[in-house]
Amino acid sequence: MEAPTFQRHDHRVEGDRPPTDTQLVHAQPAGAALSIASGTLFSRDTIDPTDYAARTRDVLSKVPLIDGHNDLPYLIRNELKYQIYSDRFTFDTGLLSQTDRKKLREGLVGGQFWSVYIHCPDPSEKLELDDPTASPNSVQWVVRDTLEQIDITKRFVAEYPETFQYCDNSTCAREAFHNGKIGSYIGIEGGHQVGNSLAALRMFYELGARYITTTHNCDNVFATAASTVAAGGEDAGLTPFGREYVAEMNRLGMMIDLSHVSHQTMRDILDVTKAPIIFSHSGAHGVSKSLRFAPDDVLRRTAENGGIIMITFVIRFLRPDDPSAATIHDVVDHIWHVAQVAGWDHVGVGSDFDGTPATPVGLEDVSKYPRLVELLMERGATDEQIRKFAGENILRVWKEVEDVATRLQNKGKKPNEAYWDGRKWVRDEINMPRMFRDSIGRRVPSFSGKP
Ligand SMILES: [Zn+2]
Repeated sequence: MEAPTFQRHDHRVEGDRPPTDTQLVHAQPAGAALSIASGTLFSRDTIDPTDYAARTRDVLSKVPLIDGHNDLPYLIRNELKYQIYSDRFTFDTGLLSQTDRKKLREGLVGGQFWSVYIHCPDPSEKLELDDPTASPNSVQWVVRDTLEQIDITKRFVAEYPETFQYCDNSTCAREAFHNGKIGSYIGIEGGHQVGNSLAALRMFYELGARYITTTHNCDNVFATAASTVAAGGEDAGLTPFGREYVAEMNRLGMMIDLSHVSHQTMRDILDVTKAPIIFSHSGAHGVSKSLRFAPDDVLRRTAENGGIIMITFVIRFLRPDDPSAATIHDVVDHIWHVAQVAGWDHVGVGSDFDGTPATPVGLEDVSKYPRLVELLMERGATDEQIRKFAGENILRVWKEVEDVATRLQNKGKKPNEAYWDGRKWVRDEINMPRMFRDSIGRRVPSFSGKP
């Protein structure tokens, strides 16, 4: 999700008619049956290397194309107040949004991290984030609203079982693809959404969230955001409590997303994480000078870390000088740069579809991924490099994050009980029993202020 600061005309023009059912059948990503078929009917020996469309279909029949970031759940909140069983939610037959079922199938999508996004607190409300006496509609309800986003993502995935398979681990993500389904996973877009609490973070893990974008466009108790530095603020990087967050994410097996964080935060997290990191929707600062994007030293360190940079389609970051001029070729440039600096083992795609008002020419919606792959092949990418880019890299990272968690837990690492030192603790007025003689004066104070 990106703040909609730039508007332009819709690029969906002629030739963008919904496909027929027959076309849809042919466009479906493989599944086991088609994989076997492709091994005989479309083996590498029989494909003309310059037939990029055929090569793309072949590779994406064997490896899921996994996108790191799509904000459709936020549109369902905004426009339907989560009522997807109404007649208005025509997901199967087509929507104006950048994502619907037909476009996903045309786009040969094999897996999707659905972003559960709730906006940052207004700076004037910031103190209310941890104030239990704040008004019922204040930003402290960001945790409730995040729960609602997870609820709708799971309900929406369950509503279309012929299309989606919900997954909360990398093994399932592979199985979903082999079942011919679009693996559907959950990522939280902003550390503010866990309410400054590692306990809440753990519960979001239990609910299926598998990455957290460490900041959105606001600083939080964990780290400094790129937007703060872009506005002239100090880049303070990761906070001491942010280090506790990193440790707990590693222990849980949750991927740490560095999209949206400042450059210093990127470096600080790379210093302390024990597991590979991800950029779920980012780009190369060496190609366009958005502070949101990873500089070359961070790309190299991401390679050492074993992580991945998934390239976004947000035009105002791809072309800060002239966003409306952004095309699919700018995205290819970013992918190519990351592949050159960090290597093909560390690049992927994370569109931000339906989280941004306009996209590059040629990447209007989720049906367009095959064209992106074709252009990478035209520029010289091998099938093996495309397999990594499309899905093998993010599946490897996810598995390594799971393995690190298993090792840490097997070593006896317990849930992290650290709490934010700005936390306001209160209890009700009832005179509760005590566990300790010396508790008076140390206890959480009551609403009246008495300990
Ligand atoms: Zn975003």
